[in-house]
Amino acid sequence: MNESKMKAMSLYRPGEASSSPLEYGEVSIPNPGPGQLRLKISVCGVCHTDLHTVEGDLELPVVPIIPGHQVVGLVDELGPGVERFEVGDRVGVAWLNWACGDCEYCSSGLENLCSQARFTGLHSDGGYAQYLVVDENFAFPIPRSFTDIEAAPLMCAGIVGYRALLLSGIKPGGRLGLYGFGASAHLVIQVARYWECEVYVFTRGEQHRRLAEDLGAVWTGSAETRPPKELDAGVIFAPVGWIVPHALSYLKPGGTLAINAIHMSNIPEMPYSLIYGERVLRSVANFTRKDAVEFLETAAEIPVRCEVESFSLEDANAVLQSLKESQIKASAVLDIPQ
Ligand SMILES: [Zn+2]
Ligand SMILES: [Zn+2]
Repeated sequence: MNESKMKAMSLYRPGEASSSPLEYGEVSIPNPGPGQLRLKISVCGVCHTDLHTVEGDLELPVVPIIPGHQVVGLVDELGPGVERFEVGDRVGVAWLNWACGDCEYCSSGLENLCSQARFTGLHSDGGYAQYLVVDENFAFPIPRSFTDIEAAPLMCAGIVGYRALLLSGIKPGGRLGLYGFGASAHLVIQVARYWECEVYVFTRGEQHRRLAEDLGAVWTGSAETRPPKELDAGVIFAPVGWIVPHALSYLKPGGTLAINAIHMSNIPEMPYSLIYGERVLRSVANFTRKDAVEFLETAAEIPVRCEVESFSLEDANAVLQSLKESQIKASAVLDIPQ
């Protein structure tokens, strides 16, 4: 391999995951600009959002683009003026790649809604490669108790899931519904259990139900099945709109249903009575750096257990297809060749 080239899975044109839209090849190694770090990537988690990027459900502002926003690696070069990190530090990079720091959202603790925000693997090349560059203010130290592979799914499934849990308004000891049980929910349930919540998990797969029970769910069933008790809050992880009216119907008056999805199929028409009683239906968009720092601390404190399956970088297309078919038990990560 040429010294200034790296291996990467690049997206030139979106397409069905089954048509293998990501191309394996060599591209130039990026150089860190002012305030940026360069990371030699060790592993990169595969997120449902990557599927939406690769299949073109999300508009692609930059093409070609290297997806991947659950990145763990070692700092291997510093751009001018970097102050927070040194070469050799282990850091993670997540979905929020940059926010302006100045707008009404950024100045009120809602940088996740910054209209100029940029996202890793969408506006800026991500982790399906051997190297990436990132602004030092959007890189996070990884708690030492996690291996690289364990840490990767924390970077999106964990952090965004944590924000969804906060936005659901669940209180310690409350009754929480989780709809869909993949990478994010299997981490979120551990935080909820740590807060002594009673957790009800709605998922079809037998394997997912068993994992939910292992992780402390008091009840598992399908989304069409009414749980034995009314729920204080819920989080939907499965990006399917038909679940919404069911989930609302299991919710107590005043309860919140948070939707942790960047893209969802249409929500069917439903009677007003499902939301009357001051029930709240809200989406969850991105995360703030505060969420990231708080979650990583909490995850280390618990400590959360990550169920991970690892694959080679070249297999990214097949992994995305498996994710689409719900064939991944918990979290998939790509092992990046060193
Ligand atoms: Zn802003
Ligand atoms: Zn993600």
